[in-house]
Amino acid sequence: MPQRDWTRRAIEALEAETHRSADTHLLRLDLPSFPGIPLYLKDESVHPTGSLKHRLARSLFIYAICNGWLREGRPVIEASSGSTAISEAYFARLLGLPFVAVMPRSTSPDKVALIEHFGGRCHFIDDTDVYGTAQRLADELDGHYMDQFTYAERATDWRGNSNIAESIFRQMAHKADPEPHWIVVSAGTGGTSATIGRYIRYRPGTQVTTRLAVVDPERSVFHDYFVSGDTTLTLSRGSRIEGIGRPRVEPSFVRGVIDRMIQVPDAATFAALRVLERLLGRRCGGSTGTNFVGALQLMCELHANGTPGPVVTMICDGGERYRGTYYDEAWIAATGLDVASWQRRLDEVVASGRWPD
Ligand SMILES: *Cc1c(COP(=O)(O)O)cnc(C)c1O
Repeated sequence: MPQRDWTRRAIEALEAETHRSADTHLLRLDLPSFPGIPLYLKDESVHPTGSLKHRLARSLFIYAICNGWLREGRPVIEASSGSTAISEAYFARLLGLPFVAVMPRSTSPDKVALIEHFGGRCHFIDDTDVYGTAQRLADELDGHYMDQFTYAERATDWRGNSNIAESIFRQMAHKADPEPHWIVVSAGTGGTSATIGRYIRYRPGTQVTTRLAVVDPERSVFHDYFVSGDTTLTLSRGSRIEGIGRPRVEPSFVRGVIDRMIQVPDAATFAALRVLERLLGRRCGGSTGTNFVGALQLMCELHANGTPGPVVTMICDGGERYRGTYYDEAWIAATGLDVASWQRRLDEVVASGRWPD
């Protein structure tokens, strides 16, 4: 098929997929110890591929197609710790393109199974150079390396077009609450924080006072980069919280739109998943635990300062993908982290509305 015809059909297929999907829910959680400070959770686990990466994958495919980077029958390659690969495998199949994910061998088997379920192939590596391997593989196979860590911030239409920020503000406009004090997200590519941060500065019509907080797990350079501005920072070990925290400063991580960063210990993240399970009656993925710890800390500040108002955060994906890790007692024990004492602290925060000193 001529390239131009293939491009048109590909875009039509992606548009049709968008129209088959509804917007994601904005859940509300009222904790009695935080009067006037509701927590809203944007539930990104309900996308057809189960995570916020569904939005990113759609944007990356549209961007690549419109740039003339994808061709009929040619493979798409990605460097991914799992969730992006799951969503991209889905879109590649929709377009009839082969898909290969380059990922660390430690990626959870449930994620690998999902990538294969959507017709993708997994290429495991033992070092951290997923980027170089993905580029080499793309050259060898005469395919295209999608490169989420470079293009996430620019592939998304950050001014609108139903991006995640516009969707949150549209849904909040129908609530009895004023604008959120804080939106709390975590960063992997940094694409989500870039979209939200730019949108709240730009947002047409009104003056938005909402601030953007980004939470960062252990084994990530983002927090130190936020403080120092040093783009050369690197780490040799990868983050334990799948999807967030990076060993290098990713090109898509936009520092200037972030108002505050909060470091969250991994033990607090794992404890938060248990607290959230009790509060929501369901299991969420690891990064949602990190988000929840940051949101609780900010809610405590609003409470202490006597400035009530909503806080918004995100359910990035569901807990089903992590049965063998965050929800497995043996796996948690093997980390050697004191999750139990963090669970007591977080239970106390939820009960008292106060952050421990
Ligand atoms: C990618 C990812 C994030 C972070 O989103 P970015 O837009 O890439 O910064 C958070 N949680 C999960 C589960 C992810 O896969």
